[in-house]
Amino acid sequence: MIVTPKTRGFICTTAHPVGCRENVRRQAEYAKEHCAAHGPKRVLVLGASTGYGLSSRIAAAFGWGASTLGVIFDKPASGSRTASAGWYNTAAFEDYAAQAGLYAKTINGDAFSTQVKEEAIALIRRDLGQVDLVIYSLAAPRRTTADGTTYSSVLKTVGEPYTNKTVDLKTGRVEEVTVTPATQEEIDATVKVMGGEDWLDWMHALQRGGVLAPGAQTVAYSYIGPELTHAIYKDGSIGMAKQHLHRTARRIGEELPGIQGFISVNKALVTQSSAAIPVVPLYISLLYRVMKQKGLHEGCIEQMCRLFGEKLYGENGAVTDEEGFVRLDDWEMRADVQQEVAALWEQIDSDNVKHLADVDGYWQDFYQMFGFHLAGVDYEQDVDIVVDIPSLVCPQQ
Ligand code: NAD
Repeated sequence: MIVTPKTRGFICTTAHPVGCRENVRRQAEYAKEHCAAHGPKRVLVLGASTGYGLSSRIAAAFGWGASTLGVIFDKPASGSRTASAGWYNTAAFEDYAAQAGLYAKTINGDAFSTQVKEEAIALIRRDLGQVDLVIYSLAAPRRTTADGTTYSSVLKTVGEPYTNKTVDLKTGRVEEVTVTPATQEEIDATVKVMGGEDWLDWMHALQRGGVLAPGAQTVAYSYIGPELTHAIYKDGSIGMAKQHLHRTARRIGEELPGIQGFISVNKALVTQSSAAIPVVPLYISLLYRVMKQKGLHEGCIEQMCRLFGEKLYGENGAVTDEEGFVRLDDWEMRADVQQEVAALWEQIDSDNVKHLADVDGYWQDFYQMFGFHLAGVDYEQDVDIVVDIPSLVCPQQ
């Protein structure tokens, strides 16, 4: 079938198997060349199929030859529907890992569930013995807990409504958006989904299962960002969840002796999750422009190679700020970068958005997440949309 992008809102409902494969190949090549970390050899990646989690897995495998177990929540092709991008990414990842002689297995299921945790523990015990790094990179809209309750996360403010500019990237219209405050119930639900409770559950389960190596480390990803996104991000409902995640990193150290929990504060990037946040896509497209002009722009794989190569496993061990955070957003938050973004933010409107912001760069990244717009891929070719993930384990849910 000939696969074309079909967008609905901020998602693309199709994915291109060959393009996704090319995306993974490029990231693997980058990691081989630039990710000279001497990192842990047995790595569990939760949320391993797209965005930061996929790049973390690629960096670990192709950067320093780690065995990886990935947990994903993706859909295979069915009828004329393509598989999800994460499915094709994982199939390609496993194929390249096999060619390189690297262990790679994947569990497809809800990482929040007990069954997936048990399956992961059994697989680690059988194949790897233990893991020495756990990467927690889930970004989920909802979570069902063991008692059957489903919580949904919201992207709202806390306290007051907030009005600022946002862009409809399709039409290029810059308009004001008002984000309404979350109710306490919505905030609590967002914390349930995107806070640290499940991360801590994973770490305790792995410890109880005897599959955490002594001195193992774990890292989860967060975002802080500049003032202009604070109301919607850092101080909003998602920010409350991130604060919980930050406290959880400390609890892991306290409750699991010898285990270190890290928070890496990453750069704002186009991923399936960030595209959904009001205000943020306009900020990202201005940030891309400024950072590209200054030669500072990074995508997920560049960020992850810098995380592991310089910030976690570099010569000086873990490099953290006074609050204990690893700062991968150091270049994004540089004063000169933020001053230029803030000045552009003041000027931007529907007439000049294409000129002032990197809208093309935004769209390029957006389509590439789904395997489209990659140079060297022939999109006129018929492709088989049914692709297997060789090692896939699907626990009964
Ligand atoms: P993403 O949507 O690309 O990746 C999320 C991953 O989680 C996907 O692999 C998805 O399949 C998986 N997932 C979702 N629900 C799952 C479930 N129930 N079970 C198993 N897997 C599940 O998002 P991302 O932007 O890479 O986000 C990863 C982390 O990085 C998040 O914590 C996010 O807040 C953080 N972060 C993102 C940015 C950014 O700008 N994108 C910046 C800083 C930090």
